[in-house]
Amino acid sequence: SPVCILVLGMAGSGKTTFTQKLIQHAQEKFNPYVVNLDPACREVPYAAHVDIRDTVNYREVMKQYQLGPNGGIVTALNMFTTKMAQFAELVRRAGERGHKWCVIDTPGQIEVFTWSASGSIITEGLATMFPTIVIYVMDVERSACPTTFMSNMLYACSILYKTRLPFLVALNKIDLKDCGFVMDWMTDFEAFQEAQEEEHSFVSNLTRTMSLTLDTFYENLRTCGVSAKTGVGFAQLLAKILESVDEYETDFKPVYEKKR
Ligand code: GDP
Ligand code: MG
Repeated sequence: SPVCILVLGMAGSGKTTFTQKLIQHAQEKFNPYVVNLDPACREVPYAAHVDIRDTVNYREVMKQYQLGPNGGIVTALNMFTTKMAQFAELVRRAGERGHKWCVIDTPGQIEVFTWSASGSIITEGLATMFPTIVIYVMDVERSACPTTFMSNMLYACSILYKTRLPFLVALNKIDLKDCGFVMDWMTDFEAFQEAQEEEHSFVSNLTRTMSLTLDTFYENLRTCGVSAKTGVGFAQLLAKILESVDEYETDFKPVYEKKR
């Protein structure tokens, strides 16, 4: 059955652009089946096999139920999720037709997916049926500020523990800024401290304690620098995806099999 790859990340981190590049690089070997779950995007730069916009009209939903943009997106996702069984069946059949991967692009606002019932139903539904991994896309340029970096990492950490799936961090936009500093901050506590001390922000005490806590999280974290714009780093990323899939088979599958 196909490997499901959930692409998550903050708004503007580059999920959609990343999805496009990923399927380009994976085309030959993995013939990816592509899913867009963002009801509010105007257009996607790839050909989606399943597009939430074909089943629900987010603007109509907003109007009909008198919702704001976020409520509209959540409701649209809920409506899609009522067809979860059919969706899973589509993915399964795609696997039979030779699609080895299923790449899933998610809504711009990350919390819509990670902290909604629908997001959990979709994630768990896929993970019980197929080998499933999460790719967390992170904007390295925006993470250059230690406090922002820390909140991004805490978010990543919370998703890891919530989904309990193999987790790969794509450090995106390395065409704008080298991701070496992220690697340094993750492996060397002192380096992060130093960067932080230059900030003098009121949160720095909190951040200091947090970063010690995050140490164990970093230890087992798989990361890869990429540029979704230029395509740099994607060969390496593909290899790390395969490592993550192996990890699903050995460490995660037994857990999800129990839940089935
Ligand atoms: P999403 O909201 O996470 O789906 O993010 P998008 O894919 O829509 O990208 C947000 C913005 O970042 C767009 O203007 C993209 O062109 C830009 N972007 C995405 N990836 C890269 C990258 O690797 N390098 C640069 N320079 N820009 C990028
Ligand atoms: Mg997007």
